[in-house]
Amino acid sequence: MGKLKLHPPNCLLLEGGSSQERKLLSLYWSMSLNCQGDAGPCLRCRPCVQIRDESFRDLYFLGSGDKVKIDQIRELRTIYSQKPHFSWRVVVISEAQALRGEPANALLKSLEEPAPGNSFVLLAPQREGVFSTLVSRSVVMTLSRQAGINFDEDLELVFRELKDFVRTGKGWLNRTAGKNKPDIIQTRQIVSRCRHELVLSMLKNDSQNLFHQYSPLDRYHVQNILTKAEHCLALNYIRVDLVVEWLAVSLWKNFNCREKDVYRTRHLSV
Ligand SMILES: [Zn+2]
Repeated sequence: MGKLKLHPPNCLLLEGGSSQERKLLSLYWSMSLNCQGDAGPCLRCRPCVQIRDESFRDLYFLGSGDKVKIDQIRELRTIYSQKPHFSWRVVVISEAQALRGEPANALLKSLEEPAPGNSFVLLAPQREGVFSTLVSRSVVMTLSRQAGINFDEDLELVFRELKDFVRTGKGWLNRTAGKNKPDIIQTRQIVSRCRHELVLSMLKNDSQNLFHQYSPLDRYHVQNILTKAEHCLALNYIRVDLVVEWLAVSLWKNFNCREKDVYRTRHLSV
């Protein structure tokens, strides 16, 4: 997604996953385009918060493909010839496989005459069902069947180990000392995987999420840890294994001191 952000496509087609996950990813995409921070969605700035709450003025949900009317697309054409209020206007159509006939043609026309600052996002279970000319005009991104963005399997394995370490304090240090220790590219991927997990933890209630039930302040600390790790990785002469170790230990400390526990203790002592 990082590379896409540098040259946002006129139309992004998100396929795979559940409809909920596709919608979350469209929110994440809007945040990536509009966030005021310098690395990934910060979740704290005004655009990020408004997008999360779906109250952002440049975010349009046209609804399910079969309900989209040609007038809506025409109306959009007048809107999108104007500059967005913020950086990017994002128009999301869910169940894009049901978009047919006149509305689909009107959308195609809009895609043929792109206006800067606008990004269409089509959500569909799989690209095969979507009007083929629309697919050919889109950049397609596939969600894995299980959850989240299609991260590479090796990375998921490393991330699971990191997750176990954060929760139990065991295991991870063997990984950083062993032959399979992550190189700089993998370490960057681990950091961005953590960032993705953090975004998901805010958008959906999943007890498997590493940052499940973190308070806003805890999330803020996680965000700082990730940003520090990224800054270190941008330096020329850095011991990557030390960054990896520091990242894991910092997340582990954060997990063990999180506010949730404070609340629980207070609650129990009442
Ligand atoms: Zn932000």
